[in-house]
Amino acid sequence: MIDFNTLAQAGIRSLRAYDPGHDLVALRKQATQSLLELGSNENPYGASPQAKQAVIAALDTAHIYPDPLGGDLKRALAQRHAVDAANILLGNGSHELLMQFAQVFAGPGDEVVASQYGFAVYALAAQAAGARLVLAKANPHDHAMPRGHDLDALLAAVTPRTKLVYLANPNNPTGTWYSQQAFANFLAQLPVQVLLVVDEAYAEFVDAPDYASALALRDQHPNVIVTRTFSKAYALAGLRVGFAVVHPDCIAVMERVRESFNVNALGLVAAEAALRDATHLAAAVAGNRHQREALAAALRQRGLMVSPSQTNFLLAEFGAATASIEAALVARGVILRPMGGYGLGDCLRITVGTEHENARLLVALDEVMA
Ligand SMILES: *Cc1c(COP(=O)(O)O)cnc(C)c1O
Repeated sequence: MIDFNTLAQAGIRSLRAYDPGHDLVALRKQATQSLLELGSNENPYGASPQAKQAVIAALDTAHIYPDPLGGDLKRALAQRHAVDAANILLGNGSHELLMQFAQVFAGPGDEVVASQYGFAVYALAAQAAGARLVLAKANPHDHAMPRGHDLDALLAAVTPRTKLVYLANPNNPTGTWYSQQAFANFLAQLPVQVLLVVDEAYAEFVDAPDYASALALRDQHPNVIVTRTFSKAYALAGLRVGFAVVHPDCIAVMERVRESFNVNALGLVAAEAALRDATHLAAAVAGNRHQREALAAALRQRGLMVSPSQTNFLLAEFGAATASIEAALVARGVILRPMGGYGLGDCLRITVGTEHENARLLVALDEVMA
């Protein structure tokens, strides 16, 4: 037999694959009732009808390779975000880009800084690249943004060996965010040769007045890389389209490892159509906002601690009974995301559903917690 693990490069040997939570495909096959899937922060309002139409039309040319540069989508994104098309790098989901930034800019002997309770992909990216992951402590539990990013702690974790810092704003799985002012202070002190990836996967959902996208600060800070996705507010998770807004010189280096057709033809046209359907996006964002506040209130009424959230999910504390509550919910066809992998075994992450979905969740929760 071959021991493939010992053949793998050092960083990969000690790696554990991304944990998607439950085996949803198996659960769907076993299910005797429709599952209520609130574990992956998917958008329950579905994709724009125009995006679906674009996908159907593009099927006629499915035998042809897509535009390797995704020029039409880049131009649409550039217009939407008031940047140059040369500032846009497309990814097979933003996950691909998050991994590749570490692959390209960090390696053995280098350090990558991220926050405790930051998105799991940052740790994977650093380790897969063979770099050392340095975790900064998060805000304390009783902070206004419980377990959110502590930008001072992140800054203190930066050393001359740091190549890359990953931030998420808002953060997954905490739902928390940091203010424009705090970020400006952070950026002013970050050495310019340290690349800063700001993951804004949930930016479209945000309405907090103290929040600002890092996009506006890119002009003065060429080390800032902003990543976005079509998987969440745009409801195209199944088609895998994400992008980064970054200095063209950075893109030129990234292009060396980019698979030439990394974004497929259906994803390209769907994302472009979704981007143009502002009405559909606004309805999803408004629906989410309303349901998020209602669900948070309902959970708090039941005595649960719920973190403030600017996203389409809530992090709730269920205490010592978390695992049994979660299992009992699964038995009722309600799938939430266990948080043990984040060191938050007493919490569950709950995607905000539609009004009807959230009502079903609360009925199941009341049964289980009775
Ligand atoms: C969902 C999510 C992403 C997006 O992943 P895709 O690969 O674009 O689907 C990125 N970052 C965070 C923090 C997320 O929660």
